[in-house]
Parts: sequence; C-alpha cells; structure tokens
Amino acid sequence: MTQTVLVINSGSSSIKYQLINPETGDAIAKGIVERIGEELGEITHTYAGDVTSEERAIPDHEVGMREVLRLFDEKGPALSTAGIVAVGHRVVQGGKYFAGPALITDEVRNLIEQLCPMAPLHNPAHLKGIDVARDLMSDIPHVAVFDTAFFQQLPAKTSTYALNAQVAETYAVRRYGAHGTSHQFISGEVAKFLGRDDLKQIVMHLGNGASVSAVKNGQPIDTSMGLTPLEGLVMGTRTGDIDPAVVFHLARQGGMSIDEIDHLFNKESGMKGLTGETDMRSVWKLIHNDEDHETQAKARVAMDIYINRLLKYVGSYTAELGGLDVITFTAGIGENDWNVRRELAEALAPFGVKIDLEKNDGRIGEPRIISTPDSSVLLLVYPTNEELAIAQQALTLL
Ligand code: ADP
Repeated sequence: MTQTVLVINSGSSSIKYQLINPETGDAIAKGIVERIGEELGEITHTYAGDVTSEERAIPDHEVGMREVLRLFDEKGPALSTAGIVAVGHRVVQGGKYFAGPALITDEVRNLIEQLCPMAPLHNPAHLKGIDVARDLMSDIPHVAVFDTAFFQQLPAKTSTYALNAQVAETYAVRRYGAHGTSHQFISGEVAKFLGRDDLKQIVMHLGNGASVSAVKNGQPIDTSMGLTPLEGLVMGTRTGDIDPAVVFHLARQGGMSIDEIDHLFNKESGMKGLTGETDMRSVWKLIHNDEDHETQAKARVAMDIYINRLLKYVGSYTAELGGLDVITFTAGIGENDWNVRRELAEALAPFGVKIDLEKNDGRIGEPRIISTPDSSVLLLVYPTNEELAIAQQALTLL
C-alpha cells in the first residue's frame, strides 16, 4: 500500500493539513480550519478535485481537529485505509535541542513547551495541535519538524551575536534562523536539479515572511533570520535589520512600551509600514499608478529598500561563500514576482549576472533557470514545498 504522511501546521487560530505521498510529492487531500475561537469558523477540505467548505463555530483546536477527522471520514479519503505511517507537525522553534526531526514523546513535547518564550506566537499554537492530534490518533507515530533545525549547523561565527557572552548564555540568545525546512529542501533540490553537490548557493525564501541563506556544499553557513524571524530582509510587515537603538529611542522619546514596539516592528512595519500595503501585488499597483504621484514615489522608495536589502545580502553572502554558483528564488514573491527577480538581477549586472527576461517573465510554478547561458551566476526559480519536506523528514525517523 502507498505510504502517506499527514502534515499538520497548527497556528494560533488555524489548523492547516495535507495528506501527502512523500514518494511522489502528491497532496492527496488538504484543508484548513480557520478562525478557531471566533464566533464563526470555517473548514475547507479538498479531496479528488472536490472542495467542501463549511461554516460553523469552532471553539478550540480539539473541536477543529475532530472536524478534520470527520471530513476525512465523510468526504474521503478514509484515514483508516489511507496508509498513514506518520503525522508530521511543523514547529517553528526547536532551540538548541533539535538539529533534526524528532519523534514526539512526552519529553519532546515538554521541550517544545519549554521553548515557548522563544516563540510566544508559534510554539503554544503548535502544542495545541500536537496534543489534540496525539490524543485522537494515538496509534500513529507523531514527528515534529523544526523550522530552526537546519540552522543548528551554522558555524559559531554566524550563529553568535557579539553580545555579552554571559547574558547570551543565560537567556539562550543566539541566531536560530527560521524557514529552515524550506532552505534545506530547496538547497537539496537545487543540488539534485543541477547534478552537483559542490555548490555555493544563495537561497531566497521570499514570502510574506522572508529570509535568505548561504549554503556551501549542502551545509548552511549563514542565514538572515536570527533569534526570531524579525532579523534580516524587509518583509510584508516586519522591519528586518534595524539598529537596536531604535528600540531605546522609541521607548525613551516615544514613551512606547516593549509590547508596542514588538507589535510595531513585527506587524506594522516592512512593506506595510512603508506603503500601507503588505502584498507585493498591491505595492506594484501603487508604483504603476501615475495618478497619485506622492503615493507612487513612496511605494517606489519602499521597493528600492526591499531590493537593496536583497542586494546587500547577496554581496555579503557571496563574500562569505568565497564565490557564488547559484541564486534560487522561492516562496510567494520568489516564485511569482518577476519584477522583484528582474530588479535584483539588474542590480547584479556589474558582476556579470544576466537574466533572460523571457524565461523570467510571469509566475513560475516549476523549477526553471532564468539566467542566460553566459551569466556569471545561475539564477533559478524553484517552488518550495514545506509540507512535502516535513513529510519526507518525518519518514526518515520511521
Ligand atoms: P507566507 O507563507 O509567508 O504567508 P507566501 O510564501 O505564501 O507567504 O507568500 C505570500 C506573498 O507572496 C504575498 O504577500 C505576496 O506579496 C506575494 N505574491 C503572491 N503572488 C504574487 C504575485 N502573483 N505577484 C507578486 N507577489 C505575489
């Protein structure tokens, strides 16, 4: 029988799931439970081309998970005959404890709980999903796959902040990175795609959250996210890199509390803070709107800041890697925003990078080289698939 993995991504008010065949990468069924805890929630389940959507109150994760199992029962495929060999849970923060996937025992569960202060928005929500799913599917092994695991391999020189060592030790302050499942998956796929292991790679995971990593011969040597996903690139709503003294300034001069500054940096900054729009498609609309010059100019500057940040990371990572073979674009913006790819490539033209505008044009849903044959660096678009990566990692433990 085909072996499958049920992948669960439990958030604070949602549960996303996919039943995956890890061999072929096919998503056999998938769905999402949304607005858990609100007056009216929604469940969408897709199987064999049929989409079922239901609105009802979903007071908590347990009810949400029971609804998911009910939909599998009623709409298919029946889980008892679906060949499920593992349930794979996405977990954002694995701290120093997890350098790879882990079979969820009570001890592992408690370590994930201990790490809640490092990921206060994510780990508690993951735990809700893990607890309920372990309860309801107790005869199947559950595996946690951590966003930080890949970057546990970072060398000390890039994982350590130049912060007082004693303070860093006491509070476990270091660079953990994030999106590691995607960076590991993509860098591995790129090596297979190009038939080479000895690659100096830059992987750009550009979604609403965005991060870039430098990978040498399969090992990560640097990444842009740090203690939390706030560091690094300009994102949909996050500042990315910023002078930490801005925090002191806003506290002292603006009388803002730590929570207010946290919210400002994580939720009200980035492209949203600069333009009012989070989604890149909306930002481009502002840039192309000749009727409102003031907004247009602001949006253009925001895009320049976004591209320039990418450029800075390419420069510094190329130096760290001691050269560069390939830049890979992935995630929502990386796969779909051809203008971001083009503008970054054009900024790299002085270094012999040449983009093939025809190949770059449009949204790209399959692996594709978008540089010209004489480009100094290969430019590649490679769609990420974090669910498949989680399913594959879960399988390695069985
Ligand atoms: P996340 O998983 O972090 O929520 P995604 O990887 O799904 O993010 O990326 C979402 C982002 O991708 C959107 O906010 C939008 O900016 C961008 N995006 C999606 N489709 C397009 C498109 N056709 N053109 C430009 N940007 C796009």
